[in-house]
Amino acid sequence: MNTDAIKLLQGRYCNSLTEYSRFVTREVAIGDVPMGGNNPIRIQSMTTTDTMDTIGTVEQSIRMVDAGCEYVRITAPSIKEAQNLAEIKKQLRQRGYAVPLVADIHFTPNAAEIAARIVEKVRVNPGNYADKKKFDQIDYTDAQYQGELERIYQKFAPLVKICKEYGTAMRIGTNHGSLSDRIMSRYGDTPQGMVESAMEFMRMCETLNYYNLVISMKSSNPQVMVQAYRLLVETMVAEGMNYPLHLGVTEAGDGEDGRIKSSVGIGTLLEDGLGDTVRVSLTEEPEAEAPVAIALVERYVRRKFESPKVRKSESLESAVKVSPTGGDLEGAKGGRRHTYEANAFIGGHMVPRVVIDLSQKNLKDAAILNDAGYLYSPLLDKYTMAEQSVDFVYMADQLSSFNFPGNLKQLYNYATWQKLADKTNCHPVFTLQEYIAAEDRSSKLNLVRVKNSDIDSDEFGALPFDQSLIFILETEALHGMADQRSFFFKMEELGLDVPVIIKRSYSFESESPKVRKSESEVKVSPTGGDLEGAGPLQLYAATDLGALLVDGFGDGIWIDAPQVETKVITSTAFGILQATRSRISKTEYISCPSCGRTLFDLMVTTQMIRSRTSHLKGLKIGIMGCIVNGPGEMADADYGYVGSGTDKVTLYRGKEAVKKNINSANALDELIGIIKEDGNWTELEELSVN
Ligand code: SF4
Repeated sequence: MNTDAIKLLQGRYCNSLTEYSRFVTREVAIGDVPMGGNNPIRIQSMTTTDTMDTIGTVEQSIRMVDAGCEYVRITAPSIKEAQNLAEIKKQLRQRGYAVPLVADIHFTPNAAEIAARIVEKVRVNPGNYADKKKFDQIDYTDAQYQGELERIYQKFAPLVKICKEYGTAMRIGTNHGSLSDRIMSRYGDTPQGMVESAMEFMRMCETLNYYNLVISMKSSNPQVMVQAYRLLVETMVAEGMNYPLHLGVTEAGDGEDGRIKSSVGIGTLLEDGLGDTVRVSLTEEPEAEAPVAIALVERYVRRKFESPKVRKSESLESAVKVSPTGGDLEGAKGGRRHTYEANAFIGGHMVPRVVIDLSQKNLKDAAILNDAGYLYSPLLDKYTMAEQSVDFVYMADQLSSFNFPGNLKQLYNYATWQKLADKTNCHPVFTLQEYIAAEDRSSKLNLVRVKNSDIDSDEFGALPFDQSLIFILETEALHGMADQRSFFFKMEELGLDVPVIIKRSYSFESESPKVRKSESEVKVSPTGGDLEGAGPLQLYAATDLGALLVDGFGDGIWIDAPQVETKVITSTAFGILQATRSRISKTEYISCPSCGRTLFDLMVTTQMIRSRTSHLKGLKIGIMGCIVNGPGEMADADYGYVGSGTDKVTLYRGKEAVKKNINSANALDELIGIIKEDGNWTELEELSVN
């Protein structure tokens, strides 16, 4: 990303890139729980039961509300399910739950028109509402394209009129994987196509004087999702719109991967001050989603009260003022920041490196390296490397009584490093002042701790620059991500291409959430309490580091959390790099959260597929509950495992169905067979290092 691109990027999709400021949207009425404006960022989720199972759906909705959901979405694939929403709503109200309901619509305008008379909000997907997706490439003339828009308007206008009459809100929810053939033919599979897909429907609504809209731009790829939302905001502002944003990463998967992927996408936008409601999509019970969404959102509720800057820009007008330009997001697409490659190990085209702190561990036992990705065999006196082996360990002033693997670099505080008899693979960490004054530096790598404000200091100007220099960027700022982003902008302005390791520190206590003193000192349970063992570390680190990595900033990451186990820190770090697609170290699963259309137990099936394929580094496998939406929504998966009937599965190679309606008992073996046929199968192998 060059300096001009960064200047162009500044403030085009949010109020500020360097301090927290919420982009204030139009308030939309959704039952008794309004969204947007100065309302809190709302939490929501979707049921997974069959909508015709009234009791099951009511009870699951109640569990979701009790877990923190403020809206409950229910699928309405056809007229009979749409009609049954009335009974579900009635029973919920009888049991004292006034939660607004949202009907999820795909393909079926007649179901939408019924649902809009019953529930508080309908969700339509512009990719398949009166439009079609058959993966056809069609060359439209301008007149034909306009003709299609008019045809869609005729089908869509009745729903808008019903929503107006009944006071029903609407979400126009674009999905990256289910853009219509018409949009794909003109804009391709791009953030621009996603935005235009929604904007066409939004413009139709405004023509009909209907403004009770919420917009989403979901993708299973957090980078695409972030770019699409940012471009949407820019486009809306240019057209004088400020509709609330529903944030979500689709098909994020389960467990740690699902939480990290969701946090990278949703957290990055929340850091930008964007988002009015959040839905975290996990392949887990829907009530497991709300605690994750709450933990993500809660940081900004506090920040709003603590940051004096927030109220300055709380109007669309101010957003327009700082977002004067249109066009596409050149800067956001610009790839990784240019840096030099130091010691053929970090920066340049090298994958981002991972640093962990071992200085507080038992340095008499080589087994502590197991959690850093190096399995020690006492019998052979050898280490075995995994795909997730860290690159640097920080030792501070501690010395170990065992030898380290040959390719693991150790970092010592400068004074201790100076005294080491054997400096092979050992590198010094300096303060800014130490580095300027030092007479004895490493000829290979010198790491210097800096913070954003240092770059404006006289000392920074006195730094001796050469290609052994690496910055470790720390922050104590309330809005740490923006503080660190500001440092990168200043580096670009100065034309400095020094590689940077982004370091974030988290302080956790053993019990439930405590009052936070500063953004870098969040006091919450490391095991997470309500977070089903996920721990807030994954969510916070994925937000703070992911937000910089998706924009191409960072040549390494360092998560410092003394109270959290090393293995959790290691897997979180690699998970963040995987989710931002900056360093691939494992198989990626794009699995849907399931809903009333699901044809098999997604949680069990995902675990089964994961157990046999998790070593296939870099492969993307889609696991989708239904053939109606699954193939579209698994977006850029290399292979797909899609429910196509009771006990029936259809297997995909990319977007092509290669085995249709096979028995689910054999489906995984068949999938592995296809992967083998393509030469993409590998057996688990171990890499030994001394
Ligand atoms: S892919 Fe099908 S089953 Fe899965 S969430 Fe989407 S609509 Fe539901």
